[in-house]
Amino acid sequence: MNNRLYGNLIFELSKEGRRGYSLPRNHVGNYEIPASMRRTKDAELPACDELTVVRHYTNLSNNNFGVDTGFYPLGSCTMKYNPKINEEMASLPKFQNLHPLQPDNTVLGVKALVLFLEQALCTLTGLAHFTFKPYAGAHGELTGLMTIDNYHRSRGDMARKKVIVPDSAHGTNPASAAVCGLEVVEVKSMSDGTVDVDDLKRIVAEQGDEIAAMMMTNPNTLGLFEKNIPEIAELIHNCGGLMYYDGANLNPMLGVCRPGDMGFDVMHINLHKTFSTPHGGGGPGAGPVGVREGLQEFFPFVSPYNGNFCVMMRACAYILSLGAEQIKNVGPLATLNANYIKESLKDVYELPIDGLCCHEFVFDGLKDKSTGVTTMDVAKRLLDYGYHAPTIYFPLLFHESLMIEPTENESKETLDSFIAVMRKIAEEAKTHPDEVKSAPHNTPIGRVDDVLAAKHPIVTYRAMKNDEMKD
Ligand SMILES: *Cc1c(COP(=O)(O)O)cnc(C)c1O
Repeated sequence: MNNRLYGNLIFELSKEGRRGYSLPRNHVGNYEIPASMRRTKDAELPACDELTVVRHYTNLSNNNFGVDTGFYPLGSCTMKYNPKINEEMASLPKFQNLHPLQPDNTVLGVKALVLFLEQALCTLTGLAHFTFKPYAGAHGELTGLMTIDNYHRSRGDMARKKVIVPDSAHGTNPASAAVCGLEVVEVKSMSDGTVDVDDLKRIVAEQGDEIAAMMMTNPNTLGLFEKNIPEIAELIHNCGGLMYYDGANLNPMLGVCRPGDMGFDVMHINLHKTFSTPHGGGGPGAGPVGVREGLQEFFPFVSPYNGNFCVMMRACAYILSLGAEQIKNVGPLATLNANYIKESLKDVYELPIDGLCCHEFVFDGLKDKSTGVTTMDVAKRLLDYGYHAPTIYFPLLFHESLMIEPTENESKETLDSFIAVMRKIAEEAKTHPDEVKSAPHNTPIGRVDDVLAAKHPIVTYRAMKNDEMKD
């Protein structure tokens, strides 16, 4: 589309004999590598001049979309601003060059930081102890469920092998339960999107002796505050189970209310979401697990080391720079921003569950279904206007889910421009739907066949050259 050689691989820019770098003169003499260990033909490396290499990778990086380049309303992921002070702190050489096997007396400051973070998380959650071993939210779920399993087994209560999970839950909840060897029992949601307590009563009456735990996300995956938690916690505790809190959505609760006070026994926190670490593309993360007093002795062995220290360091910097008073504004501002977008768009996008949301909410596609324009089309068209798409087709409760989470950091101007573009797309869906259905038009790569990409991923240059490119 222009002279930037978009789409070229560095191998395709290669010209035999070109050089970008010369090795310094050898001052130490030659060492003859035994013939049996030498390659028989030269490695196939691209041969490019330095300027071509610099432009190639700089252009690639410009194709990247991040929180630092534009609005990123990806629901459930809490793509909030990552303050630069965090990066400065996490990249201090004395933290960067730590080795996990360093003697204890050389890392006393680091241990003090971990202790500080544990105390801060205990204060924010109302729980008593945290382990920092898990590397992500899902890993935290597994660690938390193993803790619960260990607890029941320590009491000789071997029959408790079932975990109650709401039908609105994040997919990692049932997956973690399955990996832990537990059976998932699904509890229904009511039409207002929160857990159906009557359905839960039925499950507890029928299978109470087998219930190990109930997993809940609050606000739940629809962005709704679960109002009946005290009653739910009482039901579960009375039948002998424990309450697990999926804390990936802790952001709107920071300093406002605490899982420990609501009756939860075990939880994980996604430090990379709530406490600001850049986490697009799958990492890095940290999923510390917190427990009520007495349960810490049941933490399982999931890793010999504490998890991603740099993520923990960023969380410390974030908490310290906001402080106890400012941190209380995070939740209300995230909630205000989400409700502002929701109310400004609900006349053109279908809002299946009306009322106040917390930090995020879900539309069920465009209100006018006659245009044939789907949530996928809206998401692709947003790219043309320079926005990252919201989360789409999740949660599974609706056919055309479009899940928007603006976070607390965005200005009113940013929210207003996003709202204007969303309204414009709704208008385009009526006036020229084909342009929306064939979007994106302004990106380096148009609409990809993601089923083909998932089924036949081509991840090597050679495979692409020889076979698949012809198909
Ligand atoms: C993101 C998320 C998870 C999983 O966390 P990872 O760090 O991606 O493993 C679990 N539950 C909810 C509600 C989430 O939003």
